[in-house]
Amino acid sequence: MRLEALRKANAAAKTAEAKAARAKRVFDIYAQTSNDALEKVYEDVQTHFVDLYRRINADDESTFEAKLKPSLGKLGFGVDFYKRGFFPPGAYHSEGHQDSMGLCLYLALMKYLLGSGFTFSVLDDVLMSVDAGHRREVSKLLKAEFPDTQFVLTTHDQARLKFMSTTGLVAAKDKVLFRKWTVDEGPTTWGKGDVWDEIREKAANDDVPGAASALRRCTEHLSAEACRALRAKVEFSVDGHHDLGDLLDPALGQMKSLLKDARLAADTWSDTERVASITAMEKQFADAVAAAKVEQWQINPAVHHNEWANLQKPEILAVIDAFQKLFALFNCTQCGVLIEVSPGRGSREFLQCNCGKVKLSFMHQPKDQTFA
Ligand SMILES: [Zn+2]
Repeated sequence: MRLEALRKANAAAKTAEAKAARAKRVFDIYAQTSNDALEKVYEDVQTHFVDLYRRINADDESTFEAKLKPSLGKLGFGVDFYKRGFFPPGAYHSEGHQDSMGLCLYLALMKYLLGSGFTFSVLDDVLMSVDAGHRREVSKLLKAEFPDTQFVLTTHDQARLKFMSTTGLVAAKDKVLFRKWTVDEGPTTWGKGDVWDEIREKAANDDVPGAASALRRCTEHLSAEACRALRAKVEFSVDGHHDLGDLLDPALGQMKSLLKDARLAADTWSDTERVASITAMEKQFADAVAAAKVEQWQINPAVHHNEWANLQKPEILAVIDAFQKLFALFNCTQCGVLIEVSPGRGSREFLQCNCGKVKLSFMHQPKDQTFA
């Protein structure tokens, strides 16, 4: 009986040993093959990754190096820190640098895997901890290195948006500002006109305080946009926040004064047709401002927008109408974009829209110019 048991156990042990040996061999071959393949991928990706990262950080890490190594089924990732050796990214690099490393690694990998098929990419607020200077480099990099990839970039950060615009990464027409977001309805954007209907609907449903606060947020936003587009001077605020009281008057005043300047410029060229058309615009604008004032009965928004909530339904509806008409005048009736002063800085040349329907020059005819 015992001998029988020993034989059985021996046989089982042998079979198990053989299985183990075979399994180990399979594992080794698999590990070797996958490592070889991965090393090849890493090598290719590594070079591109290092190149991308160096370009973003050319100011202080232009000699940056990185080593990507397979490490038991995961990525061993060593990055150079000012020539002090290779360490995991989290060891010495700041959160911001790690963020940009992550992005560079992703871009290098996608380019490797998809090649010319890398045509679409969504980057969701990926650079929140990257400082402004390096974000600018990221914007330039995306534009220069990935001209055939369409990027959808989301951000909560106005400064980032600004860099994306000034580096030409995002054209003004490609910007979409979300006003709110709900799971059921998805994002709602600014500037589609639906905001006015929404405010009006609140008022119509007897929610005057709701309509008043929506109107306040809406007009605040539109005033800020107008101030930016028209390069209006706004009183400095240390926390960067401006409310309607800070923004509405500068926006209205600036539009008024720009139209006047454009008219005076047209006058120097004796362009009576242009003078007449600007005069009509000035009148239309002045009438709209006056209407908003009348409807609101006192426009001083610093005090009185707080009183919108106390209005009767027909009164608030009238205020909503008046402001919608007023703010419509800041946009081109044809292409719908905000009328802007161009260029965005330096001496101003034009008040214009995208389609060219509005294009008013500030250039005066030089006084000594004569036509022979
Ligand atoms: Zn236009």
